[in-house]
Amino acid sequence: MLGRVTCFAEGMQLWKLAASCGALMLTAGAGATIEDDLSSVLPFGPRVTGSAANEQARSYFEAQFRAMGYTTRRDVFTYPRFDDLGSDVRLGTRTLTGRALEGSTGGAVTGRIVRIPGVGTAENFRAVNVQGGVAVVQRGQLPFLDKVKNALAAGAAGVIVVNTEAKELQGRLGERVPLPALAVTSVAGAALQEGQQVSLNVRVRDGEVQGVNVVAFKSGLIRPDILFGGHMDSVFRAPGANDNLSGTVAVLDLARRAVNTPLAARSYFVLFDGEEDGLRGSRKFVQDNPGVVQNLKAMFNFDMVGVDASPLNVSGEARLVELARQTAQLSGSARDQGGSDQVPFAQAGVPTLFFHRGLDVNYHQPSDTLADPQLIRATVDAALTTADAALTPVPASR
Ligand SMILES: [Zn+2]
Repeated sequence: MLGRVTCFAEGMQLWKLAASCGALMLTAGAGATIEDDLSSVLPFGPRVTGSAANEQARSYFEAQFRAMGYTTRRDVFTYPRFDDLGSDVRLGTRTLTGRALEGSTGGAVTGRIVRIPGVGTAENFRAVNVQGGVAVVQRGQLPFLDKVKNALAAGAAGVIVVNTEAKELQGRLGERVPLPALAVTSVAGAALQEGQQVSLNVRVRDGEVQGVNVVAFKSGLIRPDILFGGHMDSVFRAPGANDNLSGTVAVLDLARRAVNTPLAARSYFVLFDGEEDGLRGSRKFVQDNPGVVQNLKAMFNFDMVGVDASPLNVSGEARLVELARQTAQLSGSARDQGGSDQVPFAQAGVPTLFFHRGLDVNYHQPSDTLADPQLIRATVDAALTTADAALTPVPASR
């Protein structure tokens, strides 16, 4: 029932609607498993903050928490983001993939190629006539912003920056410039011949994005002792099975395993949004919930725990790391490793513990489609053991 209501409210495409409603109705409830969670959410696709898939995934997670008897709350926030929606260069019948420089204006322009000598200084631009043409300039030495501004001043209709390597280049201008500008690989750059007609298609979206954290807890709990968190968003083009459906599902499974134990009455379970855009959700949570944050005895964060790039590792506050070593036999280090959602909590003085299995080869790639339920389950086991130890009062010494 809940599934049906949620699905119709989404207004999604029919096949997706059928798929997600089916999944919700089949698996909502305390009886769902890590396997169910993975197979229900992965087909939604990349959960980029602000996307339909991100919202579909959130609805699924909320339904799971509620079916277990938890209350869920949505914390909504916004922030600016620049997105390349797919930019390219067309040369006759050939299409070369490009990446818009962050700050570039969108648009489609056609003109002749003018190869700029040097690295694109104002002097380099004065040496050629680029009026109405598409400037092709080498990467290096000069900031992208200077190259693009010089092209604008010289009357170019657009700019292509050529990388020095055969790799995609994700460049930033640092401010908005009213000229379409993108970067191509060195290989694509070599195909751009002086005087050829070329069309430059820069498709960008530059605006506010809405992020939504989900907070699940037992009704009435306002001062939790522990917060279990993981980010539910992923990057463009990456389905984010390991980064970070694995950690999200670990948090959901912790809630499932804790539900009929005293731990449920002491815990917040938080699915952060906007992590990939700069820890937006966790920063917002820490900022907006000072009472909760000040009271926390521990914050456990889970990011990339579904692929064993390296064995499960914990890092963070020395005492928690030691407890994880002793009680769950984990390897650990007191130095916090990695920029994930534990960082704003640690900065606010909360003892944190970061659960991580290293960066696998599919990190931030379209091939991030695998997460092993057994590894997630083992992570949950270790976290429960450690949480139990962390929340047990230390007996007074005699
Ligand atoms: Zn991540």
